[in-house]
Amino acid sequence: MAPTDRSAGEYGSGIRIGSFVGVPVYIGWTWLILAAGLTWLFGAPHADTLGPVGYAVGLSIAVGLLVSVLVHEGAHALSARAFGLRVRRIVADLMGGHTAFEGRTTPWSQGITGLSGPVANLLLAGLCYAAALALGDGVVAFVMARLAVINILLAVFNLLPGLPLDGGQVLMAAVWRLTGSPHTASVVAGWTGRIVAVVVVLGFIGVPLLGGTQPSLVNILIVLLIASFLWRGASQAIAVGQARRRLSRLELGQILRPVTMVRGDAPVASWFRGPGQVYVTVGPDGHPDAIVRDDAVASVPREQWDRVPASAVAAAAPPHWVREVEEAPTPELVLSLLAQSGASALLIVHREAVAGIAFAADAMRAIGQ
Ligand SMILES: [Zn+2]
Repeated sequence: MAPTDRSAGEYGSGIRIGSFVGVPVYIGWTWLILAAGLTWLFGAPHADTLGPVGYAVGLSIAVGLLVSVLVHEGAHALSARAFGLRVRRIVADLMGGHTAFEGRTTPWSQGITGLSGPVANLLLAGLCYAAALALGDGVVAFVMARLAVINILLAVFNLLPGLPLDGGQVLMAAVWRLTGSPHTASVVAGWTGRIVAVVVVLGFIGVPLLGGTQPSLVNILIVLLIASFLWRGASQAIAVGQARRRLSRLELGQILRPVTMVRGDAPVASWFRGPGQVYVTVGPDGHPDAIVRDDAVASVPREQWDRVPASAVAAAAPPHWVREVEEAPTPELVLSLLAQSGASALLIVHREAVAGIAFAADAMRAIGQ
């Protein structure tokens, strides 16, 4: 299915079966459920007439499906590599599979990487069909013919134009190319992904019901499982697209406020220029140590402002709140520092000068959480 750009690391819930062009290949535990299900599905109805052969056919089809999924994911991996992306792993699991890679994508690399998987399945379908024709009769020809159909279904299903499917990647690439925004493209392809999920439910449950056939409970469950997987992936694409779009529009001023540094012993009257500004007190050693609170200043009668020192209207800053940064602060840098520290406020220092103060509350508001 869809290539993803998940983070690096080992794949926890699977068996490593080898590697392909240096990329580790895993089978997810859930794939074993699929294999058992297919073996039973093909074996059980013919148990009386075929005996163990029926189950062997089922298992062959399950293994053939696994090979088809791995070819599909291998094609994603190869094309991603061709575009200079770093491929972390290939996984085959109950939901088909995924290829995890990292790096900067472009509309072209995303579109072609997405398309490569289904195209590989179509080529494999042609090979299986040719093999079935060449073999004529027999069990192997039967398995090959089934695998040809399975590969066509894999290609068609994955080409449905909505995220998280490959067709959604292709649609996203096209919208990205047209609008110039990968974030808008992700939201659009996420919405079509939700439509695809609804159409899958209507097509496989609604239409048979209207036609007077009652779909089996197993079929209903499988369709709902696939549709919920699609819906969740689509919703995630929408959420990620919206969040990244907000991030890309974020300006430093929204999350980094200017700061006026005042001596802790300086009386309020000597520095206070009104509420809404941030004042930070420095101790005798020149180290920033507390943040002045507007409400504390307001609670002091004006006639006492020339007697009350800054330290009396300041609240202790959170521990480790001063962060020196090497590069000039950007919205991304400030957000990641806030996220890493978990602090409610960070004083950002760049080249030995205070660049500003970042409040977690400002950041939350700016990114719309
Ligand atoms: Zn795919």
